Amino acid sequence: MSKPGNNSQIKNPPSSQSGTKLTDVLAAIYKDLDAKVAKGIQNIGGTTCKAGCTHCCHILTSIGLAEGVALAERVLDMGLGSMLPKLRSAALAVCEDGITPFSYMDKKLPCVFLDGGLCSVYQQRPAVCRFYYVMSDPALCSLESNGEPVAVIDLGRAHSPIWELNVHAGRSDPELMDRILISPIPVMVLFCLSLMLREEPGYSMITEARKGIPDPDAWFERYGKTVAESERKSPKKELSKEELVQLRANIKKG
Ligand code: SF4
Repeated sequence: MSKPGNNSQIKNPPSSQSGTKLTDVLAAIYKDLDAKVAKGIQNIGGTTCKAGCTHCCHILTSIGLAEGVALAERVLDMGLGSMLPKLRSAALAVCEDGITPFSYMDKKLPCVFLDGGLCSVYQQRPAVCRFYYVMSDPALCSLESNGEPVAVIDLGRAHSPIWELNVHAGRSDPELMDRILISPIPVMVLFCLSLMLREEPGYSMITEARKGIPDPDAWFERYGKTVAESERKSPKKELSKEELVQLRANIKKG
């Protein structure tokens, strides 16, 4: 299967409210976010995250519409023939009654975009992948960890412009209005591909790949509640000053 066309042939990608190309707005927000995150990490004394560590690429990660469109455009560049089966299989893995972030971790499934230990969509990776950093030993993030809490760096609301953009993108299409459009990455990307290619000859490939996979709002309604419930119940640990000093010293030691 070849990709049905280049980006200029996509008829209906949701746009930002002003009509500017959504991916351009997103790129500007990411640039700003990356700078804020770098400053936040510097202010707190550094991170133990290292290039090549992919533990957090096994977490159940959700995105909104704007980031879904950007990733769907990237998927078109990568080739639908190779990506659709991967997206389908990854989306089916999150369509499970009673799913929680912990039950998903037990599946030990890498993100659909992790390729040979590297993020294949690094420039377009979602905001959540840009501000998730830890100060604790990376081994604690591992799937084999004994459950000892991970010290995640709180980067505040640095990513909130992304959510505003998601809302604007939803308003650009009457069909999307008033719908809660947030879901795990593969469900959202398949949905965005179906929006973008709905008038293209290759649309049947998308319909086939989405068989049995709900729209993001239907996913949220059916499976999202157990995810949210479990996140609310998971213990959050506030670091004491002493613990913070110790973690900073460990980072300095390297
Ligand atoms: S998009 Fe990239 S950085 Fe984010 S979880 Fe997937 S592979 Fe990891």
